Amino acid sequence: MKLGDFPKEIRNYLIPSHKGRLMYRCLGCSREFGIDKLLYVCPECGQVLLLYDLNVDQLKNVPAEIWQRIFDYRKMLNEPALKGIYRYHEFIGPVIPVKAIVYLGEGHTPMVEANALLQEQVGTRFYFKNDGQNPSASFKDRGMASALSYIQYMLQSGKVSEVLAVCASTGDTSAAAALYTSYLPAQIKSAVLLPHKKVTPQQLSQPLGSGATVFEIPGVFDDCMKVVEALSEDYHVALLNSKNAWRILGQESYSYEIAQDFEYDLAHTAVVVPIGNAGNITAVLSGFLKFYEVGIIRSLPKILGVQSEHANPVYRYYLEPDAAKRKFEPVTVKPSVAQAAMIGNPVSMPRVIHLVEHYNQLAGKQSVFIIEVTEQAIMDWEIMANRNGHIACTHGGESLAGLVAATEQGIIESNDVAVIDSTAHALKFSGFQEMYFEKRFPREFNINPDPELINAPVYMRPKDLAKVPAPGQPLSGDDFKRFVERTAQEIAIILGLKKKM
Ligand SMILES: *Cc1c(COP(=O)(O)O)cnc(C)c1O
Ligand SMILES: [Zn+2]
Repeated sequence: MKLGDFPKEIRNYLIPSHKGRLMYRCLGCSREFGIDKLLYVCPECGQVLLLYDLNVDQLKNVPAEIWQRIFDYRKMLNEPALKGIYRYHEFIGPVIPVKAIVYLGEGHTPMVEANALLQEQVGTRFYFKNDGQNPSASFKDRGMASALSYIQYMLQSGKVSEVLAVCASTGDTSAAAALYTSYLPAQIKSAVLLPHKKVTPQQLSQPLGSGATVFEIPGVFDDCMKVVEALSEDYHVALLNSKNAWRILGQESYSYEIAQDFEYDLAHTAVVVPIGNAGNITAVLSGFLKFYEVGIIRSLPKILGVQSEHANPVYRYYLEPDAAKRKFEPVTVKPSVAQAAMIGNPVSMPRVIHLVEHYNQLAGKQSVFIIEVTEQAIMDWEIMANRNGHIACTHGGESLAGLVAATEQGIIESNDVAVIDSTAHALKFSGFQEMYFEKRFPREFNINPDPELINAPVYMRPKDLAKVPAPGQPLSGDDFKRFVERTAQEIAIILGLKKKM
Protein backbone atom coordinates (compact mmCIF):
# COMPACT_ATOMS: atom_id res chain seq x y z
CA MET A 1 0.00 0.00 0.00
CA LYS A 2 1.24 3.52 -0.82
CA LEU A 3 1.99 5.92 2.02
CA GLY A 4 -0.77 8.32 0.90
CA ASP A 5 -3.38 5.56 1.17
CA PHE A 6 -2.95 4.91 4.90
CA PRO A 7 -5.28 6.63 7.40
CA LYS A 8 -4.10 10.14 8.26
CA GLU A 9 -3.61 9.51 11.97
CA ILE A 10 -1.20 6.63 11.21
CA ARG A 11 0.63 8.02 8.17
CA ASN A 12 3.10 10.16 10.12
CA TYR A 13 4.13 7.26 12.27
CA LEU A 14 4.67 4.67 9.55
CA ILE A 15 8.24 5.66 8.73
CA PRO A 16 9.92 5.64 12.15
CA SER A 17 10.87 9.03 13.51
CA HIS A 18 11.43 8.38 17.22
CA LYS A 19 14.96 9.43 18.13
CA GLY A 20 16.17 6.91 20.63
CA ARG A 21 19.19 7.48 22.84
CA LEU A 22 20.62 4.01 23.25
CA MET A 23 23.18 3.35 25.97
CA TYR A 24 24.85 0.21 27.22
CA ARG A 25 24.03 -0.37 30.87
CA CYS A 26 26.13 -2.68 33.03
CA LEU A 27 24.19 -5.26 35.02
CA GLY A 28 26.95 -5.33 37.63
CA CYS A 29 27.76 -1.71 38.51
CA SER A 30 24.90 0.08 36.64
CA ARG A 31 27.35 2.36 34.81
CA GLU A 32 26.25 3.54 31.36
CA PHE A 33 28.34 3.73 28.19
CA GLY A 34 27.72 5.30 24.78
CA ILE A 35 27.20 3.18 21.67
CA ASP A 36 29.97 4.78 19.57
CA LYS A 37 32.06 1.75 20.37
CA LEU A 38 31.00 -1.87 20.22
CA LEU A 39 31.21 -3.11 23.82
CA TYR A 40 30.47 -6.61 25.09
CA VAL A 41 31.25 -6.26 28.77
CA CYS A 42 31.55 -3.36 31.17
CA PRO A 43 34.97 -1.68 30.80
CA GLU A 44 34.85 -1.02 34.56
CA CYS A 45 33.72 -4.29 36.10
CA GLY A 46 33.61 -6.86 33.30
CA GLN A 47 29.93 -7.72 33.72
CA VAL A 48 27.59 -8.20 30.71
CA LEU A 49 25.60 -5.28 29.31
CA LEU A 50 22.13 -4.58 27.98
CA LEU A 51 21.06 -1.73 25.71
CA TYR A 52 18.51 0.76 27.04
CA ASP A 53 16.80 3.68 25.35
CA LEU A 54 17.10 6.71 27.61
CA ASN A 55 14.18 8.25 25.67
CA VAL A 56 11.89 5.29 26.25
CA ASP A 57 9.41 7.49 28.12
CA GLN A 58 8.71 9.37 24.88
CA LEU A 59 7.23 6.14 23.52
CA LYS A 60 4.58 6.39 26.22
CA ASN A 61 3.39 9.67 24.68
CA VAL A 62 1.88 7.67 21.83
CA PRO A 63 -1.25 5.85 23.08
CA ALA A 64 -1.00 2.07 23.17
CA GLU A 65 -3.88 1.73 20.68
CA ILE A 66 -1.96 3.85 18.18
CA TRP A 67 1.17 1.70 18.59
CA GLN A 68 -0.91 -1.37 17.90
CA ARG A 69 -2.30 0.18 14.74
CA ILE A 70 1.15 1.37 13.64
CA PHE A 71 2.47 -2.20 13.75
CA ASP A 72 -0.66 -3.55 12.09
CA TYR A 73 -0.50 -1.03 9.25
CA ARG A 74 3.24 -1.46 8.81
CA LYS A 75 2.47 -4.98 7.61
CA MET A 76 1.08 -3.38 4.47
CA LEU A 77 3.92 -0.93 3.90
CA ASN A 78 6.26 -1.74 1.01
CA GLU A 79 9.47 -0.62 2.67
CA PRO A 80 11.88 -3.61 2.69
CA ALA A 81 13.83 -2.34 5.70
CA LEU A 82 10.65 -2.45 7.80
CA LYS A 83 9.44 -5.85 6.60
CA GLY A 84 11.45 -7.86 9.11
CA ILE A 85 12.27 -7.32 12.76
CA TYR A 86 12.37 -3.54 12.24
CA ARG A 87 8.59 -3.41 11.98
CA TYR A 88 9.19 -2.65 15.67
CA HIS A 89 11.99 -0.17 14.92
CA GLU A 90 11.26 2.11 17.88
CA PHE A 91 11.70 -0.84 20.25
CA ILE A 92 14.50 -2.70 18.49
CA GLY A 93 16.91 -0.13 17.15
CA PRO A 94 15.67 3.45 17.25
CA VAL A 95 19.16 4.77 16.45
CA ILE A 96 19.58 2.71 13.29
CA PRO A 97 18.77 4.75 10.15
CA VAL A 98 16.44 2.95 7.76
CA LYS A 99 19.16 2.94 5.08
CA ALA A 100 21.53 0.96 7.33
CA ILE A 101 19.04 -1.84 8.00
CA VAL A 102 19.97 -5.27 6.69
CA TYR A 103 16.91 -7.32 5.70
CA LEU A 104 17.28 -10.88 4.43
CA GLY A 105 13.73 -12.06 5.10
CA GLU A 106 13.99 -12.74 8.83
CA GLY A 107 11.19 -12.57 11.36
CA HIS A 108 7.40 -12.86 11.18
CA THR A 109 7.62 -16.62 11.31
CA PRO A 110 4.32 -18.51 11.25
CA MET A 111 2.42 -19.62 14.33
CA VAL A 112 0.90 -23.00 13.54
CA GLU A 113 -1.71 -24.43 15.86
CA ALA A 114 -1.20 -28.07 16.80
CA ASN A 115 -3.92 -30.40 15.57
CA ALA A 116 -6.56 -31.82 17.89
CA LEU A 117 -4.76 -35.14 18.39
CA LEU A 118 -1.47 -33.57 19.46
CA GLN A 119 -3.17 -31.01 21.71
CA GLU A 120 -5.01 -33.85 23.37
CA GLN A 121 -1.81 -35.83 23.93
CA VAL A 122 -0.07 -32.79 25.40
CA GLY A 123 -3.09 -31.72 27.44
CA THR A 124 -2.88 -28.05 26.48
CA ARG A 125 -3.87 -25.78 23.60
CA PHE A 126 -0.71 -24.73 21.82
CA TYR A 127 0.99 -23.37 18.73
CA PHE A 128 4.43 -23.85 17.32
CA LYS A 129 6.05 -20.60 16.23
CA ASN A 130 8.43 -21.86 13.57
CA ASP A 131 11.66 -19.92 13.84
CA GLY A 132 13.24 -22.55 11.61
CA GLN A 133 11.55 -20.65 8.78
CA ASN A 134 14.07 -17.81 9.08
CA PRO A 135 16.63 -17.44 6.23
CA SER A 136 19.40 -19.52 7.82
CA ALA A 137 16.77 -21.78 9.42
CA SER A 138 17.04 -20.64 13.04
CA PHE A 139 16.01 -17.72 15.28
CA LYS A 140 19.62 -16.49 15.34
CA ASP A 141 18.85 -14.49 12.17
CA ARG A 142 16.75 -12.09 14.26
CA GLY A 143 19.76 -11.14 16.37
CA MET A 144 22.15 -11.04 13.43
CA ALA A 145 19.89 -8.69 11.47
CA SER A 146 20.14 -6.32 14.43
CA ALA A 147 23.88 -6.74 15.10
CA LEU A 148 24.80 -6.37 11.42
CA SER A 149 22.49 -3.40 10.90
CA TYR A 150 24.36 -1.69 13.74
CA ILE A 151 27.73 -2.59 12.15
CA GLN A 152 26.53 -1.35 8.75
CA TYR A 153 25.44 1.89 10.45
CA MET A 154 28.92 2.26 12.02
CA LEU A 155 30.47 1.69 8.59
CA GLN A 156 28.17 4.13 6.79
CA SER A 157 28.75 6.82 9.41
CA GLY A 158 32.53 6.42 9.16
CA LYS A 159 33.00 5.18 12.74
CA VAL A 160 34.65 1.99 11.48
CA SER A 161 36.28 1.22 8.15
CA GLU A 162 36.74 -2.54 8.35
CA VAL A 163 35.12 -5.20 10.47
CA LEU A 164 36.06 -8.79 11.11
CA ALA A 165 33.08 -10.33 12.82
CA VAL A 166 33.77 -13.42 14.93
CA CYS A 167 31.62 -15.81 16.90
CA ALA A 168 31.74 -19.11 18.72
CA SER A 169 28.81 -21.29 17.87
CA THR A 170 26.91 -24.49 18.49
CA GLY A 171 26.13 -24.23 14.76
CA ASP A 172 23.29 -21.79 14.22
CA THR A 173 24.97 -18.56 15.33
CA SER A 174 27.78 -19.16 12.84
CA ALA A 175 25.31 -19.98 10.05
CA ALA A 176 23.47 -16.72 10.67
CA ALA A 177 26.63 -14.63 11.18
CA ALA A 178 28.20 -15.94 7.98
CA LEU A 179 25.01 -15.41 5.98
CA TYR A 180 24.48 -11.79 7.06
CA THR A 181 28.14 -10.75 6.73
CA SER A 182 28.35 -12.32 3.27
CA TYR A 183 25.54 -10.01 2.12
CA LEU A 184 27.35 -6.88 3.29
CA PRO A 185 30.15 -4.85 1.64
CA ALA A 186 33.56 -6.53 1.43
CA GLN A 187 34.92 -4.49 4.39
CA ILE A 188 32.78 -6.74 6.59
CA LYS A 189 34.03 -10.32 6.85
CA SER A 190 33.40 -13.17 9.25
CA ALA A 191 35.27 -15.96 10.99
CA VAL A 192 33.50 -18.59 13.07
CA LEU A 193 34.71 -21.03 15.74
CA LEU A 194 32.91 -24.34 16.09
CA PRO A 195 33.44 -27.20 18.52
CA HIS A 196 34.94 -30.02 16.42
CA LYS A 197 32.29 -32.66 15.55
CA LYS A 198 29.71 -30.96 17.79
CA VAL A 199 27.73 -29.29 15.04
CA THR A 200 25.65 -31.14 12.45
CA PRO A 201 26.89 -31.54 8.85
CA GLN A 202 24.08 -29.23 7.68
CA GLN A 203 25.15 -26.53 10.14
CA LEU A 204 28.81 -26.88 9.12
CA SER A 205 27.87 -26.50 5.46
CA GLN A 206 26.22 -23.14 6.11
CA PRO A 207 29.17 -20.87 7.05
CA LEU A 208 31.36 -22.75 4.53
CA GLY A 209 28.83 -22.03 1.81
CA SER A 210 28.62 -18.36 2.81
CA GLY A 211 32.40 -18.05 2.45
CA ALA A 212 33.29 -17.47 6.10
CA THR A 213 36.60 -18.62 7.57
CA VAL A 214 35.67 -21.64 9.68
CA PHE A 215 37.76 -22.93 12.59
CA GLU A 216 37.03 -26.21 14.32
CA ILE A 217 38.20 -26.24 17.95
CA PRO A 218 38.64 -29.30 20.19
CA GLY A 219 36.22 -29.49 23.13
CA VAL A 220 32.68 -28.17 23.52
CA PHE A 221 31.02 -24.81 22.93
CA ASP A 222 32.10 -23.39 26.29
CA ASP A 223 35.76 -23.88 25.22
CA CYS A 224 35.16 -22.10 21.89
CA MET A 225 33.49 -19.26 23.74
CA LYS A 226 36.60 -18.69 25.90
CA VAL A 227 38.81 -18.54 22.79
CA VAL A 228 36.54 -16.08 21.05
CA GLU A 229 36.34 -13.94 24.21
CA ALA A 230 40.16 -13.85 24.30
CA LEU A 231 40.15 -12.76 20.64
CA SER A 232 37.66 -9.98 21.30
CA GLU A 233 39.62 -8.74 24.33
CA ASP A 234 43.01 -8.63 22.62
CA TYR A 235 42.29 -7.92 18.96
CA HIS A 236 40.17 -5.69 16.76
CA VAL A 237 37.20 -7.92 16.03
CA ALA A 238 33.44 -7.58 16.40
CA LEU A 239 32.02 -10.32 18.59
CA LEU A 240 28.69 -11.62 17.28
CA ASN A 241 27.76 -13.94 20.15
CA SER A 242 24.73 -13.05 22.23
CA LYS A 243 27.14 -11.44 24.69
CA ASN A 244 26.79 -8.66 22.10
CA ALA A 245 23.73 -6.77 23.36
CA TRP A 246 22.62 -5.85 19.82
CA ARG A 247 21.82 -9.53 19.27
CA ILE A 248 19.41 -9.41 22.21
CA LEU A 249 17.58 -6.37 20.79
CA GLY A 250 16.90 -8.16 17.50
CA GLN A 251 15.71 -11.32 19.19
CA GLU A 252 13.13 -9.33 21.17
CA SER A 253 11.13 -9.28 17.92
CA TYR A 254 9.98 -12.82 18.75
CA SER A 255 7.96 -11.45 21.67
CA TYR A 256 6.59 -8.48 19.71
CA GLU A 257 5.35 -10.81 16.98
CA ILE A 258 3.56 -13.03 19.49
CA ALA A 259 1.93 -9.97 21.04
CA GLN A 260 0.75 -8.80 17.63
CA ASP A 261 -0.45 -12.26 16.57
CA PHE A 262 -2.60 -12.44 19.74
CA GLU A 263 -4.07 -8.97 19.11
CA TYR A 264 -1.97 -7.73 22.05
CA ASP A 265 -3.98 -9.76 24.56
CA LEU A 266 -1.61 -12.10 26.39
CA ALA A 267 -3.75 -12.69 29.48
CA HIS A 268 -3.72 -16.50 29.31
CA THR A 269 -0.64 -17.28 27.28
CA ALA A 270 2.60 -19.09 27.98
CA VAL A 271 5.72 -18.89 25.84
CA VAL A 272 8.10 -21.85 25.88
CA VAL A 273 11.79 -21.46 24.94
CA PRO A 274 14.79 -23.78 25.17
CA ILE A 275 17.78 -22.36 27.06
CA GLY A 276 21.42 -22.72 26.00
CA ASN A 277 23.58 -19.62 26.32
CA ALA A 278 20.41 -17.90 27.60
CA GLY A 279 20.43 -15.10 25.03
CA ASN A 280 17.06 -16.10 23.66
CA ILE A 281 15.21 -16.20 26.96
CA THR A 282 16.85 -12.88 27.86
CA ALA A 283 15.46 -11.35 24.68
CA VAL A 284 12.01 -12.90 25.09
CA LEU A 285 11.71 -11.57 28.66
CA SER A 286 13.05 -8.17 27.70
CA GLY A 287 10.70 -7.87 24.72
CA PHE A 288 7.56 -8.59 26.71
CA LEU A 289 8.75 -6.23 29.48
CA LYS A 290 9.22 -3.35 27.03
CA PHE A 291 5.78 -3.75 25.46
CA TYR A 292 4.27 -4.04 28.94
CA GLU A 293 6.02 -0.95 30.27
CA VAL A 294 4.78 1.14 27.33
CA GLY A 295 1.26 -0.30 27.79
CA ILE A 296 1.05 -2.09 24.42
CA ILE A 297 0.24 -5.31 26.27
CA ARG A 298 -1.70 -5.34 29.54
CA SER A 299 -0.44 -8.62 30.94
CA LEU A 300 2.78 -10.57 30.86
CA PRO A 301 2.65 -14.14 29.53
CA LYS A 302 4.09 -17.01 31.53
CA ILE A 303 7.57 -17.86 30.34
CA LEU A 304 8.79 -21.46 30.47
CA GLY A 305 12.53 -21.92 29.99
CA VAL A 306 13.46 -25.53 29.22
CA GLN A 307 16.76 -27.34 29.69
CA SER A 308 17.90 -30.90 29.08
CA GLU A 309 19.10 -32.78 32.13
CA HIS A 310 22.42 -33.05 30.23
CA ALA A 311 22.96 -29.27 30.19
CA ASN A 312 20.95 -27.74 33.01
CA PRO A 313 22.83 -24.97 34.88
CA VAL A 314 19.89 -22.54 34.79
CA TYR A 315 17.46 -25.18 36.04
CA ARG A 316 19.82 -26.04 38.89
CA TYR A 317 20.21 -22.39 39.86
CA TYR A 318 16.47 -21.93 40.32
CA LEU A 319 16.03 -25.19 42.25
CA GLU A 320 16.85 -23.19 45.37
CA PRO A 321 13.58 -21.42 46.28
CA ASP A 322 15.25 -18.75 48.44
CA ALA A 323 16.62 -16.10 46.05
CA ALA A 324 19.19 -14.97 48.61
CA LYS A 325 20.70 -18.45 48.79
CA ARG A 326 20.92 -19.11 45.05
CA LYS A 327 24.41 -19.53 43.70
CA PHE A 328 25.28 -20.02 40.07
CA GLU A 329 27.51 -23.00 39.28
CA PRO A 330 28.51 -23.89 35.71
CA VAL A 331 27.98 -27.56 34.85
CA THR A 332 29.97 -29.95 32.70
CA VAL A 333 27.65 -30.83 29.84
CA LYS A 334 26.88 -34.34 28.61
CA PRO A 335 25.93 -35.18 25.02
CA SER A 336 22.52 -33.77 24.12
CA VAL A 337 20.32 -33.99 21.07
CA ALA A 338 19.42 -30.37 21.83
CA GLN A 339 22.97 -29.73 20.72
CA ALA A 340 22.58 -26.00 20.10
CA ALA A 341 21.68 -25.63 23.78
CA MET A 342 24.46 -27.90 25.09
CA ILE A 343 26.03 -25.15 27.18
CA GLY A 344 27.21 -25.43 30.78
CA ASN A 345 28.15 -21.83 31.48
CA PRO A 346 25.60 -19.51 29.85
CA VAL A 347 27.00 -16.08 29.10
CA SER A 348 23.64 -14.36 29.69
CA MET A 349 23.05 -15.81 33.15
CA PRO A 350 23.39 -12.41 34.91
CA ARG A 351 20.85 -10.96 32.46
CA VAL A 352 18.44 -13.83 33.18
CA ILE A 353 18.74 -13.38 36.94
CA HIS A 354 18.11 -9.65 36.61
CA LEU A 355 15.18 -9.90 34.19
CA VAL A 356 13.43 -12.86 35.85
CA GLU A 357 13.26 -10.96 39.11
CA HIS A 358 11.91 -7.84 37.40
CA TYR A 359 9.44 -9.89 35.36
CA ASN A 360 7.98 -11.75 38.33
CA GLN A 361 7.75 -8.49 40.24
CA LEU A 362 5.82 -6.69 37.50
CA ALA A 363 3.57 -9.71 36.96
CA GLY A 364 2.80 -9.72 40.69
CA LYS A 365 3.42 -13.47 40.89
CA GLN A 366 5.86 -16.09 39.72
CA SER A 367 5.58 -16.03 35.94
CA VAL A 368 8.92 -17.44 34.85
CA PHE A 369 9.47 -21.17 35.30
CA ILE A 370 12.53 -23.24 34.46
CA ILE A 371 11.83 -26.84 33.56
CA GLU A 372 14.08 -29.84 33.07
CA VAL A 373 13.43 -32.64 30.58
CA THR A 374 15.13 -35.91 29.63
CA GLU A 375 16.87 -36.60 26.35
CA GLN A 376 14.31 -39.36 25.78
CA ALA A 377 11.40 -36.93 26.12
CA ILE A 378 13.06 -34.46 23.74
CA MET A 379 13.37 -37.04 20.96
CA ASP A 380 9.97 -38.65 21.53
CA TRP A 381 8.14 -35.31 21.48
CA GLU A 382 10.07 -33.97 18.49
CA ILE A 383 9.10 -37.01 16.46
CA MET A 384 5.54 -36.94 17.77
CA ALA A 385 5.20 -33.27 16.74
CA ASN A 386 6.56 -33.94 13.27
CA ARG A 387 4.24 -36.91 12.78
CA ASN A 388 1.46 -34.36 13.27
CA GLY A 389 2.43 -31.80 10.67
CA HIS A 390 5.24 -29.79 12.26
CA ILE A 391 8.87 -29.16 11.35
CA ALA A 392 10.29 -29.05 14.86
CA CYS A 393 14.01 -29.50 15.48
CA THR A 394 15.28 -31.24 18.60
CA HIS A 395 15.01 -27.92 20.48
CA GLY A 396 11.38 -27.63 19.41
CA GLY A 397 11.02 -31.14 20.83
CA GLU A 398 12.73 -29.97 24.00
CA SER A 399 10.27 -27.08 24.33
CA LEU A 400 7.30 -29.37 23.71
CA ALA A 401 8.60 -31.85 26.30
CA GLY A 402 8.88 -28.87 28.67
CA LEU A 403 5.28 -27.88 28.00
CA VAL A 404 4.15 -31.44 28.75
CA ALA A 405 6.07 -31.39 32.04
CA ALA A 406 4.72 -27.94 32.96
CA THR A 407 1.18 -29.09 32.24
CA GLU A 408 1.68 -32.13 34.49
CA GLN A 409 3.11 -29.90 37.22
CA GLY A 410 0.07 -27.61 37.10
CA ILE A 411 2.10 -24.60 35.89
CA ILE A 412 -0.08 -24.43 32.79
CA GLU A 413 -3.73 -23.89 33.62
CA SER A 414 -6.65 -25.22 31.61
CA ASN A 415 -7.43 -21.87 29.94
CA ASP A 416 -3.78 -21.17 29.00
CA VAL A 417 -2.63 -21.23 25.39
CA ALA A 418 1.06 -21.93 24.82
CA VAL A 419 3.41 -20.81 22.05
CA ILE A 420 6.37 -23.10 21.56
CA ASP A 421 9.58 -21.75 20.11
CA SER A 422 10.70 -24.22 17.50
CA THR A 423 14.08 -22.52 17.32
CA ALA A 424 15.45 -24.17 14.18
CA HIS A 425 14.30 -26.24 11.21
CA ALA A 426 14.01 -30.02 11.66
CA LEU A 427 16.37 -30.57 8.70
CA LYS A 428 19.35 -29.06 10.53
CA PHE A 429 19.18 -31.81 13.15
CA SER A 430 17.92 -34.72 11.06
CA GLY A 431 20.97 -36.76 12.07
CA PHE A 432 19.45 -37.27 15.53
CA GLN A 433 16.24 -38.52 13.96
CA GLU A 434 18.36 -40.95 11.92
CA MET A 435 20.09 -42.18 15.07
CA TYR A 436 16.69 -42.71 16.67
CA PHE A 437 15.22 -44.57 13.72
CA GLU A 438 18.33 -46.71 13.33
CA LYS A 439 18.73 -47.29 17.10
CA ARG A 440 22.28 -45.96 16.93
CA PHE A 441 22.36 -43.62 19.95
CA PRO A 442 25.58 -43.98 21.94
CA ARG A 443 24.84 -44.97 25.55
CA GLU A 444 25.60 -41.57 27.05
CA PHE A 445 22.46 -40.06 25.47
CA ASN A 446 20.20 -42.39 27.47
CA ILE A 447 17.71 -42.73 24.64
CA ASN A 448 15.75 -45.90 23.84
CA PRO A 449 13.78 -45.42 20.65
CA ASP A 450 10.05 -46.10 20.94
CA PRO A 451 9.28 -48.81 18.33
CA GLU A 452 5.95 -47.08 17.60
CA LEU A 453 7.81 -43.98 16.44
CA ILE A 454 10.54 -45.63 14.39
CA ASN A 455 10.36 -45.24 10.63
CA ALA A 456 12.61 -46.61 7.89
CA PRO A 457 12.52 -46.89 4.12
CA VAL A 458 11.48 -50.25 2.63
CA TYR A 459 13.78 -51.48 -0.12
CA MET A 460 11.47 -52.92 -2.75
CA ARG A 461 13.02 -55.43 -5.12
CA PRO A 462 10.76 -58.38 -5.89
CA LYS A 463 12.96 -61.50 -5.68
CA ASP A 464 11.41 -63.18 -8.71
CA LEU A 465 12.51 -60.40 -11.06
CA ALA A 466 15.62 -61.25 -13.05
CA LYS A 467 16.17 -57.69 -14.16
CA VAL A 468 15.63 -54.32 -12.49
CA PRO A 469 16.61 -50.88 -13.80
CA ALA A 470 19.79 -49.18 -12.67
CA PRO A 471 21.01 -45.61 -13.21
CA GLY A 472 22.08 -45.38 -16.87
CA GLN A 473 20.66 -48.87 -17.59
CA PRO A 474 16.94 -48.49 -18.18
CA LEU A 475 14.76 -51.54 -18.87
CA SER A 476 12.51 -51.74 -21.92
CA GLY A 477 9.79 -53.89 -23.45
CA ASP A 478 8.47 -56.86 -21.45
CA ASP A 479 11.23 -56.62 -18.83
CA PHE A 480 10.14 -53.09 -17.98
CA LYS A 481 6.43 -53.97 -17.99
CA ARG A 482 7.05 -56.89 -15.64
CA PHE A 483 9.20 -54.76 -13.33
CA VAL A 484 6.46 -52.11 -13.03
CA GLU A 485 3.70 -54.69 -12.50
CA ARG A 486 5.50 -56.80 -9.92
CA THR A 487 6.81 -53.82 -7.94
CA ALA A 488 3.32 -52.28 -7.82
CA GLN A 489 1.87 -55.64 -6.67
CA GLU A 490 4.38 -55.99 -3.84
CA ILE A 491 3.77 -52.42 -2.67
CA ALA A 492 0.01 -53.01 -2.77
CA ILE A 493 0.44 -56.11 -0.57
CA ILE A 494 2.47 -54.22 2.03
CA LEU A 495 -0.01 -51.32 2.03
CA GLY A 496 -3.00 -53.72 2.13
CA LEU A 497 -4.57 -52.07 -0.92
CA LYS A 498 -7.84 -53.35 -2.35
CA LYS A 499 -7.92 -54.05 -6.07
CA LYS A 500 -10.30 -52.01 -8.27
CA MET A 501 -13.10 -54.18 -9.71
C1 LIG B 1 21.10 -21.00 19.93
C2 LIG B 1 20.03 -21.98 19.95
C3 LIG B 1 19.34 -22.30 21.13
C4 LIG B 1 19.71 -21.74 22.46
O1 LIG B 1 19.49 -20.35 22.53
P1 LIG B 1 20.32 -19.47 23.58
O2 LIG B 1 20.06 -18.08 23.19
O3 LIG B 1 21.75 -19.86 23.41
O4 LIG B 1 19.81 -19.84 24.91
C5 LIG B 1 18.29 -23.18 21.05
N1 LIG B 1 17.93 -23.75 19.89
C6 LIG B 1 18.58 -23.49 18.74
C7 LIG B 1 18.15 -24.18 17.50
C8 LIG B 1 19.65 -22.60 18.73
O5 LIG B 1 20.29 -22.36 17.59
ZN1 LIG C 1 30.11 -2.58 35.40
